[in-house]
Amino acid sequence: MEQTGMLIDGRSITADDVTKVLNPATNHVIAEVARASGDDVDRAVQVAHNRFQTWKRSKTTERRDALRRLADLIRRDQERLARLESDNVGKPIAAARGEIGAVAATFDYYAGAVDKFHGQTIPTKADGTLLTFREPLGVCGLIVPWNFPMLILSWKVAPALAMGNTVVVKPAEVTPLSALALAGLALEAGFPPGVFNVTPGKGSVAGEALVHHPLVRKVAFTGSTEVGTRIMQSAAEGIKRVSLELGGKSANVVFADADMDTCIESSIWAVYDNAGQDCCSRSRILVERPAFDEFVDRFAERTKMIRLGDPADEATEMGPLITSQHRDTVEGYLRAGDEEGAVRVCGGVRPGGDLEAGNFLTPAVYVNVTPDMRIMQEEIFGPVVAIVPFDTEQEAVELANDSDYGLSGSLWTRDIGRALRFVREFETGMISVNSSSSVHIEAPFGGVKKSGIGREQGMAALEHYSEFKTVFIADN
Ligand code: NAD
Repeated sequence: MEQTGMLIDGRSITADDVTKVLNPATNHVIAEVARASGDDVDRAVQVAHNRFQTWKRSKTTERRDALRRLADLIRRDQERLARLESDNVGKPIAAARGEIGAVAATFDYYAGAVDKFHGQTIPTKADGTLLTFREPLGVCGLIVPWNFPMLILSWKVAPALAMGNTVVVKPAEVTPLSALALAGLALEAGFPPGVFNVTPGKGSVAGEALVHHPLVRKVAFTGSTEVGTRIMQSAAEGIKRVSLELGGKSANVVFADADMDTCIESSIWAVYDNAGQDCCSRSRILVERPAFDEFVDRFAERTKMIRLGDPADEATEMGPLITSQHRDTVEGYLRAGDEEGAVRVCGGVRPGGDLEAGNFLTPAVYVNVTPDMRIMQEEIFGPVVAIVPFDTEQEAVELANDSDYGLSGSLWTRDIGRALRFVREFETGMISVNSSSSVHIEAPFGGVKKSGIGREQGMAALEHYSEFKTVFIADN
């Protein structure tokens, strides 16, 4: 079994306290990873702070070239990294390969962005020259969840390093392997030791220590709204910058004029991708009444055909949930749906047989759902969807916006006027029309309301990893 240390100052550091990392498809231990204590996090932040004093002066070409080499190394090791992520998260291998490709593309994008994000010369009435610099912040604490461990980390670490910051990463306790692998490749790519450190461990220990450390100037967090709220409160004490990518309960709005073949196949993966453990999961489907019955029948039929199985099998479409405890939580939502009077059309059972040992759950479809039910309001983070009819465009807007969250969403219609009206009214950070895609490396990614603050990806992310300095130089 693999024994892995934390990574501080370019060195792998072991600890007596370890996390047993499981494969969720079998619940077998696949690695033991050192768990960082508060002192370990303190050491990592000190190292990152010291390294920042030189790294902040690195040439743009040095950062650009290192980011590009890292993208190349990720492509070189794509199969190894995809297997690591598939084994640790339970992702179907084909999906994991796609994610690693997207990680490489993220580093490529920020390699190209390094010398295209800069300050300005500002016209002024004063006798002199007015300038802004864009400067790095210092040590950034990056805290990531377990559902897309390497991809979400890349959205943080690539812009942070591109701007000349140093980082300390706290991966999710159950999925630390790919963050450590990425930091190892960063060393090989030529990033100096201490620029990219990883301190795996518990949120309540390593996570808290990072958030509270006085030398951490910014915390970038992706995870639950509950923990995000606490992080924002803690960051307030040190007036630290925060960006938060939190939960979601996104709507998928289907008008009767939609291209139903495309819409249904796309809507299936819009909710079930990654076994529904996706912050952008469109877990509320709103369908215009004339199309409702046909939509439900076809959607449920396709749902029943989804191939659950061994994530290493190329034919598998859906893997297990991340832990048995998380499956219990999702099953709690199924009980709530049943007890509150929703009708379960299919799914929500443990498949047994060869899959008995893993955390598998068949995807579930509900109808007869009312807006106040828990399965309509709360983020389930599993393969569970509620399908609800609507009669008017206004009703669809109201239902779509009836959520504490506002991360993503989709709209299906061929009526361009309606599409434009709807996207303006929709309270969300991202919406796709006649598509289920939320992620474009070139464009801002993030939410409104309780889905978070700040944006990742695109040039917008660089705003969150840099600070203005205003400089006035008198003519005299
Ligand atoms: P989580 O909030 O439990 O944990 C996220 C990370 O925070 C982990 O690394 C965890 O160890 C750490 N953490 C926990 N307590 C902490 C504390 N007190 N101080 C500092 N760090 C702490 O979330 P999760 O269960 O890992 O992930 C699922 C959640 O993430 C869902 O709500 C999902 O919607 C959200 N998510 C959001 C996005 C987005 O981009 N908006 C993307 C993926 C996941």
